Amino acid sequence: MYGKGRAWIELNLKNLKHNIEEFRRLLPCDCELMPAVKANAYGHGAVPVAKALQEQGVHAFCVASAAEGAQLRRAGISGELLVLGYTHPAEFDELIACDLIQTVIDGNYAEELQRDGRRFTVHVGIDTGMHRIGERWENIEEIIKIFQMPHLKVTGIFSHLCVSDGQSGEERAYTLEQIRHFEYVAEELHRQGFSNFKCHLQGSYGILNYSQYCFDYARAGIAFYGIYSGKHDSTKARLDLVPVLSLKARVISVRTLYKGEGAGYGLTYHPQQNRKIAVLSIGYADGIPRNLSNCGYVLCQGRMAPIVGRICMDQMLVDVTEIPQISPGEEAVLIGKSGSLEIRAEDVAQWAGTISNEIVSRLGERLERIAE
Ligand SMILES: *Cc1c(COP(=O)(O)O)cnc(C)c1O
Repeated sequence: MYGKGRAWIELNLKNLKHNIEEFRRLLPCDCELMPAVKANAYGHGAVPVAKALQEQGVHAFCVASAAEGAQLRRAGISGELLVLGYTHPAEFDELIACDLIQTVIDGNYAEELQRDGRRFTVHVGIDTGMHRIGERWENIEEIIKIFQMPHLKVTGIFSHLCVSDGQSGEERAYTLEQIRHFEYVAEELHRQGFSNFKCHLQGSYGILNYSQYCFDYARAGIAFYGIYSGKHDSTKARLDLVPVLSLKARVISVRTLYKGEGAGYGLTYHPQQNRKIAVLSIGYADGIPRNLSNCGYVLCQGRMAPIVGRICMDQMLVDVTEIPQISPGEEAVLIGKSGSLEIRAEDVAQWAGTISNEIVSRLGERLERIAE
């Protein structure tokens, strides 16, 4: 398969390396990076990203499922692989076979693991205020019961911050509460004689806004890829983070749309003058949000080409009237640079009314990932 045939992702691994160095500069030296490579490394491609990280001395990773962990093991990734989410008992085999660390979602899930009879390595989730995953921080006795389960080898505890991206007084107070609850659990466990476990709390915004707090691991996700969740996010620590991913598609046809005609499903685009339209071989099945229909633009030859008509499953249309030299076979940039212009994932997210995490993590299987 020719990687750049229809639509593809280019990965700038130099930029990834640069971002690692930026995070390492910010974090205290005894805090290790444990990047989130879940959801196919936020759409970037889990295997090429994890391999590049491993080459840079990263040896702990977060994934969302046992299958994601198994994929990385099969690709030769060593070190710690923590499954952040639920694993069904029918997949407990994978945990053992691939030497994965499973998250204990709550006390009930701990018992489910315990009942299986085999010995699992786990990190215990602690709910400090997000109320999604983890045993409640107040329930120290329940947490200790999990530590004492004979079939569970607890090598860590972790929690997750839910408003660490916000800078309001309320949001900061809530986050500091979460941090205090987490520290309380760690201290209680130590007080009761448990000592051989790691602690981790911060994701990207926890690191960028609360870098003075130091735990054993930092679970950097979106920012690690050089992307902020929202276009106007500001963070306390100002790292020089650069995007790793570019998204490109081929111009497969250039055609004239005559005055009075409409284009695409529903004929939603019907200009008042003759226009030149380019067809790109990428669509919503590749992860381009359908609500970019008649909204936003792509770059061709360093110029803006507005998206026109409805995004189709496998194609989309852009207006290239202002780019007279364009011809079939050329590249269009949907995320990334062209000439002096750049479209960031944050821009696409804003057009689509979502966060960039959703945009990149939904980039589809059909896209080839090309590491450079
Ligand atoms: C996804 C995830 C992360 C990474 O979050 P970012 O905001 O992308 O840095 C960290 N921890 C947990 C539990 C997660 O689910």
